[in-house]
Parts: sequence; C-alpha cells; structure tokens
Amino acid sequence: IHNHFIESVQPLIELIDSLRLIGIDKDIDLPSIAVVGDQSSGKSSVLEALSGVALPRGSGTTTRCPLELKLRKFKNGKWTGTISYSGHRERFDDPLKVDNLVREAQNKLAGNAVGLSDELITLEILSPDVCDLTLIDLPGISPVPVHDQPEDIGDQVKSLILKYIAKSETIILVVVPCNVDVATTEALRMAHDVDPEGYRTLAILTKPDLTDRGAEIDVLNIVQGKVIPPSKGYIIVKCRGQSDINNKIPLSKAMEMEMQFFRNHSYFSSLQNDGKASIQCLADNLTKELVHHIKKSLPYLTEQIHTKLLTVERELKNYDQCPPLEEEKMGPFLSEVIIMEFSDQINELSITGHSKDK
Ligand code: GDP
Ligand code: MG
Repeated sequence: IHNHFIESVQPLIELIDSLRLIGIDKDIDLPSIAVVGDQSSGKSSVLEALSGVALPRGSGTTTRCPLELKLRKFKNGKWTGTISYSGHRERFDDPLKVDNLVREAQNKLAGNAVGLSDELITLEILSPDVCDLTLIDLPGISPVPVHDQPEDIGDQVKSLILKYIAKSETIILVVVPCNVDVATTEALRMAHDVDPEGYRTLAILTKPDLTDRGAEIDVLNIVQGKVIPPSKGYIIVKCRGQSDINNKIPLSKAMEMEMQFFRNHSYFSSLQNDGKASIQCLADNLTKELVHHIKKSLPYLTEQIHTKLLTVERELKNYDQCPPLEEEKMGPFLSEVIIMEFSDQINELSITGHSKDK
C-alpha cells in the first residue's frame, strides 16, 4: 500500500517542485494547513513534531501572532532557517535559535505583554529531514482571560482564527486533547461552522497518555469516527510531555517512544495498523491532502498557463515573424517552448493523474 501511495503521489510532488522552482507559487495559491485548538491542547507540540523544530511553548497564550511555518525539503542541503515579518528578514543556521527569534518577533509585533497581533510571522525552513508542508500556528482559544489578558481576548483570538480557517484553500487541523470532552470543544465547533461537510477538516487527538482511566473506549470510538464524524477523520498522536522536555528527550527519540506507546497500548494498538495513530501517519495524511488539493487545482493552473501563453504569443508578434538573432532577444522564444511543455504535462496530469516521463 505504501509503495503504491508513493508511486501515485511522486509525479505530483515533483511537478509541484518544478513549478515552485520557476516561481509559480507567487501566482497560484498553494494550500496551507492551519492549526486550531484550545490553549495547551498541544498545537505547538504537533507542529514541532512535524517540523523537527523546537517552537516556543509554555503556559498562557504563547502563540500571539499567526506563525507560518514553511517546510521545504532540501535533499543533500544543510538546515537553513529564515524568519521574516513586517520588513524584517533574518537568515540563520542554528535550529536552537528558532524559539528566541519567534519570541522576539512576537514581542515586536504584539508588544511585550499578552497582546495579540494578526500580523504574520513567516518561518521558512530548508532541511533534508522535513516534508514539504506549509503550516500556520494560531493563538489558542482560551475560555477565560488569564494573567493580564484583556476581557475580550477570547473574541480577538476567535476572529483571528476565523480569518484563516474561512479560506476555502485552507486545510483545518483541529487539535483536541484526549482528556477533555471532545464533542464540546470550541475548535471543532468553529471548524464545523466554516466547513460543515468537513471536506477540509482533519482532527488530531493529542495526549493519549493522559486519557482518563475508563475513557479509553470513548477515545477509540472517536478516532474510529463513530461519534463525531464530520471531518476528514481523526488521527491520534503522542508528543513530548513536559517531563520529556525537561529530560531533553530529542524529537527522534520521542517518535520512537510514540510508536512503542501505541504498539503496546491495550486499546489503541489497532489504530496503528489502520493508519490512524502517530505523527508519521499525520505527516503522510497531510501530504496526501495537499496532493489531493493540487490535483483539483490543476485545471485552473492549465487555464492560467494558457492565458500567459496567449500573452507571450502576442508579444512574440512584435518580433516581426522571424526569430531575433541577438541572444538577449531569444528569451521569449525559449519560454514559449517551456510553457508549452508544462502545459502539456499538466494537461495530461489533470486528465490521467500521471505524468509521462520523457
Ligand atoms: P499549545 O498551547 O496548544 O501550543 O500546547 P503545547 O504544544 O504548548 O502543549 C501544552 C503542554 O502539553 C506542554 O507541556 C506539552 O509538553 C504537553 N503535551 C503535548 N502533547 C502531549 C502528549 O501527547 N502527552 C503529554 N503527556 N503531554 C503533552
Ligand atoms: Mg502554542
């Protein structure tokens, strides 16, 4: 099954890579994945496990601005991070700096205290060890203001979240811990409001190790979709708890421990075989979702490329029928050939789902 998946997805991912290489993501919206949930539900932990990058965590509202995490697989390259926000841009090569740089950015945008800002912080990470995903971490929903938070903090957070999840090209990741009443969480309700059919909502259950004794069956039923079905389904993950962090357990070790946890769990072990448990499953699923979305947008891409082609053809007419001899004027002719090739490839892909190898 796994091989089959790789084979069917590989050409699409390669196509996206080559499109990205020529800068097409400036013209076309590639979907992003927004993470929503209550405070301390485990959002940052999930993002951390997916990205391999330690993010600011702690009590209270630690995420105070939307944080866009652009993960780009860079085979054979070394780890590079770039943080940018409101005119500021900084490159760095030490993953340990992420935490401080993000905090600094938030303080600049949202003040040193507990304020919020809807200005986006973008963190781009090139690394051989990540999958190609764009994720957005959003402030957590808090039922009551804590510390010196303003009275209307809850509404501020909700309208900020809405701004992101209302977009139809956003995949919504709803994060809910296993030790709360899943059905009544605000995050699920909000996702349901903007995506009633659940076409683009995937729910993540976190903290399975903290499931109340006796409630394991309830959690199992939820993950199997028997209770609250309106979403792309559930995936259950175990991330690093506070003690793992205090003990400096590295992320790779934590993933091994996660595998072991599910394998040995008397209730949840079956979920692993069903592809519904573990961070790895989540990453695979997200890639699949992304590919699905891109497949759907291919006809639109073709249309846009045709429009561009027409423009180029019109420009070509200025060259008086015959190709220019000087090298610098060859540009448009070359790009016509390239665009035609792309257009053919995309056409074929959108029709057959495969790209023909040349
Ligand atoms: P956020 O506020 O939603 O971003 O939540 P965090 O990711 O900061 O997590 C809140 C707390 O829950 C942290 O202390 C994490 O270490 C802890 N945590 C996250 N996932 C798990 C898990 O699967 N098991 C346990 N025991 N703790 C977890
Ligand atoms: Mg957080």
